[in-house]
Amino acid sequence: MQLTAHFQCASGCGESYPLNQVIYRCEVCDGLLEVQHDIQQLKKKDAKSWIDLFDARYMRTNFPYGSGVWGKKELVCPNVDDENVVSMFEGGTNLFWAERFGRQIGLDDLWIKQCGNSHTGSFKDLGMTVLVSMVKQMLFEGKPIKAVICASTGDTSAALSAYAAAAGIPSVILLPRDKVSTTQLIQPIANGALTLALKTDFDGCMSIIQRLAKTEGFYLANSMNSLRIEGQKTISFELVQQFDWNVPDWVIIPGGNLGNVTALGLGFLMMKDLGLVDKLPRIVCAQSARANPLYRSFKTNFEEFDSLKAETTLASAIQIGNPVSVWKAIKILKKFDGIVEQATESELTEAVAQADQTGLFNCPHTGVALAALMKLAQSGQIQRRDRVIVISTASGLKFPDFKIGYHEKTLEGVESQYANSPVALDPDYDDIRRTIDQLIN
Ligand SMILES: *Cc1c(COP(=O)(O)O)cnc(C)c1O
Ligand SMILES: [Zn+2]
Repeated sequence: MQLTAHFQCASGCGESYPLNQVIYRCEVCDGLLEVQHDIQQLKKKDAKSWIDLFDARYMRTNFPYGSGVWGKKELVCPNVDDENVVSMFEGGTNLFWAERFGRQIGLDDLWIKQCGNSHTGSFKDLGMTVLVSMVKQMLFEGKPIKAVICASTGDTSAALSAYAAAAGIPSVILLPRDKVSTTQLIQPIANGALTLALKTDFDGCMSIIQRLAKTEGFYLANSMNSLRIEGQKTISFELVQQFDWNVPDWVIIPGGNLGNVTALGLGFLMMKDLGLVDKLPRIVCAQSARANPLYRSFKTNFEEFDSLKAETTLASAIQIGNPVSVWKAIKILKKFDGIVEQATESELTEAVAQADQTGLFNCPHTGVALAALMKLAQSGQIQRRDRVIVISTASGLKFPDFKIGYHEKTLEGVESQYANSPVALDPDYDDIRRTIDQLIN
C-alpha cells in the first residue's frame, strides 16, 4: 500500500504542504497545520485486517514495529523510511487497574494508562519519536537542518534531547535562568543538549525560539509542530487495543497547551472512520484551577474563549494561559460530548496522595485528572459501572520536590491529609516492637 500523509492548513483555507518541508504555519493565512492522512487509501484494508496487523506487531521485536507508535505507522507517519525511524520502543505502557482507589471513590472499572512509564518519563516521547524521525528523514534527503530546538522547562526538552541524542542530531534547549529546578534541567544536560539559560521568563524564551525557527537550519519541536500530535494519537489506539478493541465509556486527561486532548480525540475519530471501533468515549479535559482558560470557556458552552495569565501551580506542565491548540481541542470536545473540570492545588495534591496509597506514584498533572474524576463520580455524572480510563501523563519520579513537600507538609495551602513521615527511633528492639504494634493495627 503506497501511503503518504501531508500537512493541511487547519483554518480551512485549503493549502497543503509536504511533511518533509520545514514549516509550522500556513504560508497563506498563518493558520496552524494538521497532518492529513489518505483515508480513502487506508480504507482499502478492512478493519479486521488492520486489527490483525496491529495485534501481530504489538510489543514484538521487529524494528520499528514493536513500538506502540510505529506499530501503527500507516496511521501515524508513513512518510518516514524504516531506516530513519528514531525509536526507543515508546508506547506499550501498561494499564493499571485502580481497583482499590476505584472502590474508595465508588467506581468498579477504573484504569490508569501509565504513559509516564516511558523512556524519558512522560507521554512526550510518543510525539517526539515522530518529529525526530521526520528530521532524520529530511537530513537523509539532504535538507540543511543544523539542530532541533525548543523552549521548555520540563518534559518536552527531556524527550527532545533524548531522541536527538539517540539520532546524533544536535539539540538546543532554551530555559529561563533561575526559574528551573535541577530536576527539570538534568535530563537535557545528561543527554548533551546545548542548554541555554536566559535571563527572562518562559515567554521570553519562546519568542526567541520562534525567531530562530524562522531562520534556516533550525527545526522547532514545540507543540505548535503538529507532527507530535500524530504520535500522541496512538494513546487512543493503544488503550482500545488493550481492551481487545473495546471502547471505554470515559477518558480523562489533563490539559495545558491542549495538544494531547486533541490527539486523543483524533485517534478515536480515525479508528471510527476505519471501522476499528463503532462508538466514541466521552472525554474529560482536566485543568488546574490556576491555569483554567478552557474550563472557563466550557462554562460558556465554548461560546467564548479568553486566554489568561496562568498563576503558579504545582501542575507545572499545564501552567498555560494561552493554549496553542485551543480551537482544535474545542472542536474535539464538542464531538465527544466533552466536559472540562478543574482542580485546586489542594484537590490535586490530596488526590495524588490518596491514589498513591493504593500503589500508584502519581505526578501532579495526573492528580488534576484524578481530582476531576472524583468530582464527576461524586456528582453522579460518572457512574459506578462505567469503564473509566485516566491518562497519567508523567512519572511521579520526575517530581521529587512535590512528593517530599507534600509528606513534609510544606506545600502552601495544602493540608496534607495523607502525609506519612518516617518515625525516628533508637535501635532498641522493645521500643521498635511497641511502636509497630501501636501504629499497625
Ligand atoms: C505536556 C504535558 C501535559 C499537557 O499536555 P498538553 O498537550 O500541553 O495539553 C500534561 N502533563 C504532562 C506531564 C506533560 O508533560
Ligand atoms: Zn491557510
